[in-house]
Amino acid sequence: MKAAVLHEVNQPLVIEDVSVPNPGPREVLIRTAVAGLCHSDLHFMEGLYPHPLPAVLGHESAGVVEKVGSDVNYVKPGDHVVTCLSVFCGTCDNCTTGRTVLCTDTTVKMLPGASNRLSWGRKEKLNQFLNLSSFAEQMLVHENAIVKIKKEMPLDLAALIGCGVITGYGAVVNTAKVTAGETVAVSIATAWHCVAGKTTLFNCLSRLYQPSSGDIADAALEDLGDLDRQRRAATRCASPGSAAARAT
Ligand SMILES: [Zn+2]
Ligand SMILES: [Zn+2]
Repeated sequence: MKAAVLHEVNQPLVIEDVSVPNPGPREVLIRTAVAGLCHSDLHFMEGLYPHPLPAVLGHESAGVVEKVGSDVNYVKPGDHVVTCLSVFCGTCDNCTTGRTVLCTDTTVKMLPGASNRLSWGRKEKLNQFLNLSSFAEQMLVHENAIVKIKKEMPLDLAALIGCGVITGYGAVVNTAKVTAGETVAVSIATAWHCVAGKTTLFNCLSRLYQPSSGDIADAALEDLGDLDRQRRAATRCASPGSAAARAT
């Protein structure tokens, strides 16, 4: 399969031939349908956050299940899923007390550089990002890193749930502790950033990168490899008053 590889920070992603093994007992192989380009991905591309390189970035995604491991019964081939950037084991102390985001089981929530799910024709290790790596035509993930969705849900919108929606939801519910029925003031800067910026950027980029055939097209991946184009798209999409902004 093809994947967009970050070899060095501040360098364009490069399209490479990459392989994934058959799913292990609790793993799921997904055909990537949509991969949003989150600003966090850009932070890693620009070296503002560290990560072992080379790596395949991408963590806001949706797709279709292709294969499942022998112990997986949550999904089956053909199911549509959203990926979760915070995979969890479900059995550690934090998971069993409702704090799955703090899961301490590093055999499931593998630390950066620990996963061996990606391989290519080089001796150098190719690193998986956030146990997902969705800038690729396929993702091999733990079954607890996906949520099954109805097939009627458009996959470009579903992918946004994988990061943008849960980030905003967490800010409102967990940080601001807003509950149903309360009246709130939303600053324009916050609203712009959270709603217009994120959603518009996602919409623009998903239109740029969403393949028409269901697979990630080579041309779309080539676009991902052009860092200047990413920045221009982000600037254009995130500019208040732009056509894209008005359309959102
Ligand atoms: Zn994100
Ligand atoms: Zn856990």
